[in-house]
Amino acid sequence: MSGKRALIKLSGEALAGPDKAGIHGETLTALANDIATAARAGHEIAVVVGGGNFFRGVQGLNKGLDRPTADSIGMLGTVMNALALEHAIEAAGVPARAMSAVPMPSLCESYARKRALDHMAHGKVVILGGGTSNPYFTTDTGAALRAAELSCTLLMKATNVDGVYSADPKKDPNATRFDRLTHDEAIARNLKVMDTAAFALAREAGLTIVVFSLEEPGSIGAVLEGGGRATVVAPAA
Ligand code: UDP
Repeated sequence: MSGKRALIKLSGEALAGPDKAGIHGETLTALANDIATAARAGHEIAVVVGGGNFFRGVQGLNKGLDRPTADSIGMLGTVMNALALEHAIEAAGVPARAMSAVPMPSLCESYARKRALDHMAHGKVVILGGGTSNPYFTTDTGAALRAAELSCTLLMKATNVDGVYSADPKKDPNATRFDRLTHDEAIARNLKVMDTAAFALAREAGLTIVVFSLEEPGSIGAVLEGGGRATVVAPAA
């Protein structure tokens, strides 16, 4: 088995588990164990974590906030998740470094590409918080950006369904699942699994995206070994 360099995109909700908001201890530990197992198997792992379990920018608009302010609060939420994951992965026995795109040096390292590459080369899992550090973006776009600039072979988009469907399979019984799509098809179908900016950036960088479910235990390792049930979004063969 040869080690891969992969970036895993986790939504904030992946840390909330049954609580739906905030951080659920057992869910965090289970996720950290899966990531630690993948790192121990020889893969270089970067994680971009969202913040939807704390705050999404759009929620702030209903509270009378302007978009840049609301998005700033959202970005801070992602750093909270990055700190929690850093601790949990280290508790699972693998060194980890939270890095924030929004500098807050008393809490964690500031993101710098070469520093992140160096950490990964030394077996540390890097957890990237703060999104892109710009409002009007999402952590999906941040994940595509970091996966491209860190020369990752895979962008692993974790969801709660086993791939990309023509409609929400939890609501529409006629939804069909795709095994493989091109970036252009994903954009043309306006699939909600990632935003268009993220797909477009991945297309530009020639980045393969694997959409998979975290609900299957061990799914992170399975995807890294080339298995598991997932949808692959890649340039036309
Ligand atoms: N955000 C932002 N710029 C970024 C990334 C995130 O402004 O580059 C803000 C935005 O308000 C977003 C929130 O942070 O709603 C949380 O990120 P996201 O919604 O992507 O989290 P997820 O849905 O993955 O939990």
